[in-house]
Amino acid sequence: MNTNIYHITYAPGAKSLCLHFWGCNMRCRGCIRQKEIYDCHLEETKDAIFEGTEKSPEKPARFLEFNQVMDILKSLDFSQVRFMGMEATLDPELPKLAEALHKEFQSYNILLTNGLRLIPMEHIDEVVVSIKAYQNELHRDYTGVSNKEIFGNFAKLHSWGKRLRAESVLIPDYIDCYEIERIAEFIAEVDRAIPYRIDAYFPAGDNPWRRATPDEVKEVVGVAGKHLLNVSCLKGDEKLKYKVVRIY
Ligand code: SF4
Repeated sequence: MNTNIYHITYAPGAKSLCLHFWGCNMRCRGCIRQKEIYDCHLEETKDAIFEGTEKSPEKPARFLEFNQVMDILKSLDFSQVRFMGMEATLDPELPKLAEALHKEFQSYNILLTNGLRLIPMEHIDEVVVSIKAYQNELHRDYTGVSNKEIFGNFAKLHSWGKRLRAESVLIPDYIDCYEIERIAEFIAEVDRAIPYRIDAYFPAGDNPWRRATPDEVKEVVGVAGKHLLNVSCLKGDEKLKYKVVRIY
């Protein structure tokens, strides 16, 4: 059976694997996949997010079958797997894959998601929800869909006792400090201890927004920190902690 997996990367130093899934149920105007479809931690792609977007990348030509994924992973020493790329929850094979990874490799399974679709979570150890915007009009403008379901799903995941984290992208003059503070307040209503990471926006796609500066990100971290116990950020000037290699 085919999966939606088109790319696999591996950080040997962290014993960490990333499975990249194609396809999404949102159309974010600043989606990085409009610029680079492969892992931006690789040597050959790491500068792509800083460059212009004259040319859209090709879509993946091939997808792995379930058994091919399992065969590839057998040769690797890993303890952690991230389901990411675009939206992994759209792949009907994901719950079965997470179960197989638990059983055969005892891996710690982390799902990165936009939160719009819930799947059976028994074999997912941690969920990272990317919350795009608080105000529904703004969320619709950015993603093409309402955020009502996402907020409900986020609270549901917490009530199920799932280990949960949240992330947002700071886009100057669009999804700005005011908006990020509202998201932080929402997360705090669910649980102040949920870790929240704020990432600097890097221009991608056809839109007028500029990159967020490290100082802007730091300021927003301070504002979100008024509501939450654990706020971190990616300012965009960090060095890679581990070497990342392409497996597929
Ligand atoms: S949810 Fe993620 S993958 Fe989907 S369009 Fe938005 S940024 Fe891209």
